[in-house]
Order: sequence, then C-alpha cells, then structure tokens
Amino acid sequence: MIKIIAFDLDNTLYNHKQYIKSAYNDIAKFVANKHSLNKENYYKWIFQRWKEKGSSYNKIFKESYKYFNLKNFNKDINRILNIYHNNRNADLKLYEGIVDLLYQFNKEYKLILITDGHVNTQKYKIDKLKIRKYFNSIYISGEFGDEFYKPSTKMFIKCMEDYNIKSENMIYIGDNPNLDYPPCKKLDIKFIRLKAGEYSNIDIDDSVKEVDLKNLNYIFKLVGDINEKNSCINNN
Ligand SMILES: [Mg+2]
Repeated sequence: MIKIIAFDLDNTLYNHKQYIKSAYNDIAKFVANKHSLNKENYYKWIFQRWKEKGSSYNKIFKESYKYFNLKNFNKDINRILNIYHNNRNADLKLYEGIVDLLYQFNKEYKLILITDGHVNTQKYKIDKLKIRKYFNSIYISGEFGDEFYKPSTKMFIKCMEDYNIKSENMIYIGDNPNLDYPPCKKLDIKFIRLKAGEYSNIDIDDSVKEVDLKNLNYIFKLVGDINEKNSCINNN
C-alpha cells in the first residue's frame, strides 16, 4: 500500500530555467560591472553555455573568464556562487496542473519533498512557489551534508526511517534519470519520471513509467495502478 508520495523539486514541480535566468542575470551584472564588460554579451554567453551543458556542469564561469579574458577568477568565484545561491528575484511558477496534483494527493497520502541543493536557496524556492503547505516533510540534502546528495540513497532511507515505512509504501516522482532514478532503483522505491526541463531528452530504462507535462493527470492513473498491483501481491 502506498503511504507516501515524494517529489523532487527542480524541474519536477517548476522549470529550473526560471531560477538560472534570474541568478545568471545578477551574476552578469556583477561580472560586467567589475570587469567593464557588456552585461548582455556576458549573460548571453553564460546562458548559452548552460543550455549546452546543463545545471550539473560546474565549469561555466571558469570558462567564461577564459573566453572574455578576465582576471581574478579565483577571487571572484566565491562571490559568483554567493550571488547564485542568494538570488531572491527569480519569478518562479509551478508547471500548470501541479497545484491540483499536490492538492489531490494530499488528501490520500503523506507528501514529502526530497531535493538537492543549498538549504536557503531551496527554502526560498519552496516559499516562492507557495508549496510548503502541501508537504508533511521537506528533505534538503544541503541540510544533511555532501554525502546526502542524490544519487545517494541516504535521504530516501532517512525518510523511510522517519515515517517507519518500507520502500513498497513509497513512490518518488522526479525528472532526472541520473540523480532521481538510481537511488529509487537501488532501494526498490517505485519511480515515476516527469519528462520536463533540461534532462527530458535523456534516456531511461524502458521499465520506468514516464509522464509529460501535457498529460500530467496520467500520474493519477499510474499511482492507482501501482496501488492496485501492490494490493494484488499482498492478497495472494
Ligand atoms: Mg530535478
């Protein structure tokens, strides 16, 4: 029996590109100002690089300093990362249909958020998206330590321990085949992939059920199917 439905945050409930754009804009302001560059040119370059490489690539700013022939990267990088994590201007919006999904599931299941990232950054996003009220618990890897970042299974195990449930009682919904799926596979937690955001073109096992944004309500059917299968197994 499913007791908990857990969600990833970035790209699963909203498009993370919204945060990137806003944070990169602030970073471009800082770099352009400090090095007397054209802000738009610098922004365009880093944003284009993000589109090519994605959020998990961590050399974009270093490469930008090389490309624009700027000095003092090692001095500036802490400030850049600080600006990135402390951006509070991003206009974040949930994907259409997410509120209804959370509202409906909230009636029947405990909802949990399991997300990677800096604590304050993730908390800002959660508050900006006004979704805190739907979740019984929120697990942010940055709060626990580096070893808790996905694809580690640690946050999932902690969640199951905290709620005294087994993997068969839990579903995880996430977007990232490389970070969200592996811990679920390892722990035998049912995984539903939301095909959205920057990782939507990455292949995943054929056995994984996928939902795309245009057909979000299909998640209700998938969860219903998982519940039915579970009850068949338990009754036999
Ligand atoms: Mg994600």
